Amino acid sequence: MRIRYLPETLINQIAAGEVVERPSAALKELVENSIDAGAAQISIDIKGGGKNLIVIADDGEGMNAQELEAAVDRHATSKLPDDDLLNIKNLGFRGEALASIAAVSRLKIQTREKGGQGYEITVEAGKKSPVKPSAHPKGTRIEVRDLFYATPARLKFLKTERAEFMAIKDMVQRLAMAYPHVSFYLTQDGAKALSLPVTLDPKARLSAILGKDFGENAIEIAATREGIALSGYAGLPTLHRGTSQYQYLFVNGRSVQDKLITGCVRAAYMDVLHRGRHPVVALFLTLPSDLVDVNVHPAKAEVRFQDPALVRGLIIGALKTAIHEHGFATATTVSTQALGAMNRSFSPAPALPLHRGGLARVPASYYRHTAPSAPVYGHLAEAQSLLYEPEPAARYEAPAFQEPAAPAQGDDGQYALGAARAQIHENYIIAQTREGMVIVDQHAAHERLVYERFKTQMAERGIEKQGLLSPEIVDLAEQAAENLIEHRDMFARLGLEIEPFGPGAISVQSVPALLSGKADIAGLIRDLADDLAEHGHADMLEEKLNEMLSTMACHGSVRSGRRMNAEEMNALLREMEKTPLSGQCNHGRPTYIALSLKEIEKLFGRR
Ligand code: ADP
Ligand code: MG
Repeated sequence: MRIRYLPETLINQIAAGEVVERPSAALKELVENSIDAGAAQISIDIKGGGKNLIVIADDGEGMNAQELEAAVDRHATSKLPDDDLLNIKNLGFRGEALASIAAVSRLKIQTREKGGQGYEITVEAGKKSPVKPSAHPKGTRIEVRDLFYATPARLKFLKTERAEFMAIKDMVQRLAMAYPHVSFYLTQDGAKALSLPVTLDPKARLSAILGKDFGENAIEIAATREGIALSGYAGLPTLHRGTSQYQYLFVNGRSVQDKLITGCVRAAYMDVLHRGRHPVVALFLTLPSDLVDVNVHPAKAEVRFQDPALVRGLIIGALKTAIHEHGFATATTVSTQALGAMNRSFSPAPALPLHRGGLARVPASYYRHTAPSAPVYGHLAEAQSLLYEPEPAARYEAPAFQEPAAPAQGDDGQYALGAARAQIHENYIIAQTREGMVIVDQHAAHERLVYERFKTQMAERGIEKQGLLSPEIVDLAEQAAENLIEHRDMFARLGLEIEPFGPGAISVQSVPALLSGKADIAGLIRDLADDLAEHGHADMLEEKLNEMLSTMACHGSVRSGRRMNAEEMNALLREMEKTPLSGQCNHGRPTYIALSLKEIEKLFGRR
């Protein structure tokens, strides 16, 4: 066996595998360099998903001839002036990106410092050309041609041009969110893909990227704890998505995919979103650079916090407070969607046969189906009988109209959810408010109320546990068992008592009463162990319990199809106003929709 030192080019190619595993990763490094160089304007042109060509031009501070020569060498950086890895102030610091990109592509850099001369250098598969003068405006322009041509194996693993470009666009958007004072332009094969002018308002930049919906339905977050600051915007729970892809997380201006933070977001929304639905958030964590290690991942996508518990507490606390303060609100998209639906179904000329005065006649079958049990106000029933001539068999006696209960009478604006005026289809309460009307889904609303009551009880009396007649032994990987035992106090508080049972096994002494007889205990324990391994904490049990609570709440609540009198309806509205998070049911569906008079007038073409 002969040990030999690898040639520099090969070393760089190996490093390139880690630092720039795909075009979007290469672009990220280049954009970060431009930001580090103080650029106010960054424009990017992509060809062939970044495989053929990436061009990035900035108006940053540029480089002189010597710096340019060194910039493409490995471990050459201007960003660690005092060799202090604990004090990283720039996005870059490893001095590896340009060398890595140069090792696997055809690279050309043109640059000019303010008041200096312009220069350029080219590197082909790691071979440097001499630096020569070049006419160039202030700033730096970098061309990366045929990325990975020098490493065909890597090239084979790239996705389609479209997929690679989507990753590039996502990357640029993430960076743009964190730097609203920098303008970003992106083109793909000559077509404009992104155009983000400079703005001083971070929210405006977020809306430009995430859409107006987000701007209108996000809660501002601003919290600090022991020198760590959290800012940004969190979407209302009703603005949920099917993937967690719309969670944008930043640590000291760096876009990260951090499990700890994702876990916090999940925990904070756990209560208001069904499992499998995800909130939209853009969160920026800022902390002194010695409290976070960004040097744990070649692409710098992961970080380590010195005090994870502190960070966790800050994020979950801030998000929960924000969600609770706005718990009563539902996303405006909900009423916009409703309006859209109304417009769609109402605007075309009625397809039903016309009757007297050109009004659509409701088929008798429909009338028969809904009429007998629906409490309809006397005058409404009267009006109906004028408009439609139901067959005699379908006629019914309208139940006596009950005046709304006392507090709501005569004053519709007194309460946020107004005064109940009617119940339709035995599940929807129509209430009049000062500004318009609300439609309440009584089942969804009540489910949330019952669920919240359960939770309060749980908080007051704790979680009841149910001892097992004979302890259940669960076999696990040794590490998994140790992790669980380490958290046994927390589990005990939730009613789950566990004991070590030799290496790699635990014995379960009791389970939460709510789960007893219903849960597959070994399954629960394994899920919890997985959760601990993945997130370093276990919301699982609480989540499972909440799921149980929510199932019970669902059974315990007024089902749709129950008639309620005005008093009951108003009582429900009043309780909703008092209950945190009553804007959505346990599954994140809205419990009510508000329509303003303006919107109603619009529907009727009065505006
Ligand atoms: P790092 O960013 O970790 O220092 P890079 O390989 O990405 O390593 O860049 C090496 C050096 O090249 C940087 O430290 C910087 O001095 C210089 N550089 C790279 N890109 C630019 C740019 N767009 N404008 C000015 N200087 C740049
Ligand atoms: Mg860099």
